[in-house]
Amino acid sequence: MESILEQGKPMTLHKVFVNRTLNLKKIKYIGLDMDHTLIRYNSQAFEDLAFHKMCEKLVANYNYPKAVLDFKFDFDCAIRGLVLDGKNGNILKVSRHGAIRMSKHGTEAIPFAKQQKLYKSIYIDLQEQKRYYAVDTIFSISLAVLYSLLVDLKDSQMDSKIPSYATMVEQLIECMDECHTDGSIKKQVAENLESFVHRDPQLVANLERYRKHGKKIFILTNSDFEYTKLLLDYAITPFLKEYDSWIDLFEFTIVSAKKPRFFYENHPLLRIDPKTGSTSDLKGKLEQGVYLGGSAKTLTRDLEVDGDDILYIGDHIYGDILRLKKHCNWRTALVVEELGSEVEALVKALPQIQQIRTLMDEKHPIEQELVDLISERIEGISEVPESKIIEYQQQITAIDKRVSELIIKQQKLFNSHWGEVMRAGNEESYLAHQVDRFACVYMAKLGDLLELSPRTYFRAHRRPLAHELPYHI
Ligand SMILES: [Mg+2]
Repeated sequence: MESILEQGKPMTLHKVFVNRTLNLKKIKYIGLDMDHTLIRYNSQAFEDLAFHKMCEKLVANYNYPKAVLDFKFDFDCAIRGLVLDGKNGNILKVSRHGAIRMSKHGTEAIPFAKQQKLYKSIYIDLQEQKRYYAVDTIFSISLAVLYSLLVDLKDSQMDSKIPSYATMVEQLIECMDECHTDGSIKKQVAENLESFVHRDPQLVANLERYRKHGKKIFILTNSDFEYTKLLLDYAITPFLKEYDSWIDLFEFTIVSAKKPRFFYENHPLLRIDPKTGSTSDLKGKLEQGVYLGGSAKTLTRDLEVDGDDILYIGDHIYGDILRLKKHCNWRTALVVEELGSEVEALVKALPQIQQIRTLMDEKHPIEQELVDLISERIEGISEVPESKIIEYQQQITAIDKRVSELIIKQQKLFNSHWGEVMRAGNEESYLAHQVDRFACVYMAKLGDLLELSPRTYFRAHRRPLAHELPYHI
């Protein structure tokens, strides 16, 4: 009991989690994604807006039935890391190995036996193109919730105008992209900034503190100049004490960057006049100012730095860090917004986790005893009374029942529909696996990192391998 609770205490204090050792002192440039990284949104309100905008578009442009307009959005019905199966109309929660640990058809849970029949094995190949779509950003939650409701609607009216599940996923992705690029969401956010955007004066103070330490900070965002300016004028400039505006605070700002292609393609870098928004060719090297486009290659060349002199912080595994890690050598930090509530729930779940461990410790010797008895009987070593075997089997069943009850109780502390975000059953979730692979460090919000000293040494812990575990190495 003591060891787990001891492990639990620091979790409430530590806010930056380390996969690979990172010495902030050595980092020369800190690159920031804007949306959901530098700028924190009220995600529930934002996704609610995106959900309803998508519903409107599906009816107006994709000929979906009007009933779609009555859909209600519930943010908790989906979590990041889920996988949409376009073939079967299902939503899956998978482990790092692609093993399905939970599944729903629309909003209905799929019983395990049926799931086995559908997928033949519990493992799926997530690389199977055009079938699986991973919900890998917080702004895909609305898409996943909408998919589940559309599947229910399609099943309930066989002759409806709703297309196949596969087309549905394709159209939803298209529709979501349109909502994000055609201004339908941004217009409403712009008109109600207080409802959608969090402002954090402490974060701005810490950005200024980092500048004092000689850290050069830049923004690399896919958002356009107009929207970037709107948000930064609202959330950064009013709280600056040592700089006149965000343009002076940041070494440079690159908008419409087309990440992840920014990291592996070569696009020209254009200069933007922040007063008029007009663009012109960049003559000479990158210097303080606002830019459009460009590429990681020309950026590191112009700055005369190596990839590992730069720490890039983003919230999108695919858009921000996966390609960056594969194609460039930049260090990476990932904002995983859900981590705040996930860690809080984890701490609350510690008594149940400990009870489960105690029960499993009780079960293991009984299981071993049973295996030995049955082996002795098969091998004719001794006469083993049937009653003894039944007694052990009953003990194991009783323990399993108690463990199942505790797991249900424990999972209720996390998302009420899908449980933990970072775990799928006993294994890491696919999302946790991605975070582990591509993020050097990760945290719930940018402020968690910036509140630490710019000279912090993030040390990765030695993680035991399976064969080391019995020896506590
Ligand atoms: Mg982002």
